[in-house]
Amino acid sequence: MVSPSRDVKQVSSAEPQGPGLSTLSVHAGESRQKPANSLTDPIVCASTYSFENSQAIIDYIEQDQQRGEYGRYGNPGEWVVEQKLAALDGAEDGVLYSSGMAAIVGLFMTRLNQGDEVIFFDECYHRSREFCTKHLSRFGVVTRQVKACDYEAMEDAINENTRLLVSESPTNPHLSVVDLERFATIGKKHQVDTLIDATLATPYNLRPIEYGVDYVLHSATKYLGGHNDLLAGVIVGSKEKLEDVRKLRGIMGAINAPHSIYLLERGLKTFELRMERHNQNGQAVAEFLADHPAVEKVYYPGLESHPYYEVAQETMRGFGGLVTFLVKDADWRQTANIVDHCKIARIAPSLGGVETLIEQPLVMSYFQCTPEERKRFGIQDNMIRVACGIENTADLIQDLSQAIDQATDS
Ligand SMILES: *Cc1c(COP(=O)(O)O)cnc(C)c1O
Repeated sequence: MVSPSRDVKQVSSAEPQGPGLSTLSVHAGESRQKPANSLTDPIVCASTYSFENSQAIIDYIEQDQQRGEYGRYGNPGEWVVEQKLAALDGAEDGVLYSSGMAAIVGLFMTRLNQGDEVIFFDECYHRSREFCTKHLSRFGVVTRQVKACDYEAMEDAINENTRLLVSESPTNPHLSVVDLERFATIGKKHQVDTLIDATLATPYNLRPIEYGVDYVLHSATKYLGGHNDLLAGVIVGSKEKLEDVRKLRGIMGAINAPHSIYLLERGLKTFELRMERHNQNGQAVAEFLADHPAVEKVYYPGLESHPYYEVAQETMRGFGGLVTFLVKDADWRQTANIVDHCKIARIAPSLGGVETLIEQPLVMSYFQCTPEERKRFGIQDNMIRVACGIENTADLIQDLSQAIDQATDS
């Protein structure tokens, strides 16, 4: 795949060569003719697969045939979805997991040995951080955290034991955007693998593989599934780099259930359409909030005021549905009041589904942290995170507008 031109404002920079994203999300990975002549893929509820005779087993092993063996190693629906997801990212292969966290754990457990080091940009999903600092440390793996998007600090932290450089882009909830070219170049220069968790961006908005990033991870629970009704995770990359990752998954057993895989395949059919609306809603809500007198600050890469606006313009096609903002002169209870007054946006963790979700990070994810820890993670008392769904744009703005008015009146 040819690297996209990186001219600023070239809106289609994220479009893949060859078939468009919607064509891939509808058709990639699927057989043209399916069992029972069904247009849609069947849900195969099998924990094991039978062989006609002993020679069939030997052929399967010797010819490396792709077919069912035992359910923990894969199932037919999963192969379809893995190929679809790999195609969307312009990658050779993909490995599907039972959740995004299972994917992260699976990759780290495959790649890291005792004494190895992994370097993170510090704005990251709190469970990824927890897995490294609390658990990988028990196996003698060292985690180093450097300030998000501080490439010099990342390069300085590399030593002979470094095996993996990790970042999200955009980060959650601050929406900092990584310069993928710089990030991938540091990895190549020091022969260290790079991983981008692109959950918030999706392959519609960001294409890390085309910049030479080795692994791209998505929590498919979010935009890829898109309907808040399943958990899944995927890592895409080269066949070679994923071979032993897949083998360990077969041992971990972090495989998705057939029904959930079907829902993911179905959700992916409308991926591009949904992303267009998520991007549109995110941008409109961010602009509305930026102009609102009760709002102190808005974090959204599509706003010129955002510190990573330029990088986002260069690397992203759109900026997603997630918008974070700070309420002016509000303590945490007054901030909670706004969340509680929303009528369309539902109060819940997660993002990327058709329903708009709203949360106050302090309450939802960091309530048990000390004020010092929250400060270190950049979680302010007056911060609200809105994950725009695909509802009508004007209705979402109206909902937030009335919630802010009601909350600041009372
Ligand atoms: C949700 C999320 C994860 C974890 O994914 P699950 O599917 O919930 O396990 C990882 N990274 C990011 C950026 C996420 O938003």
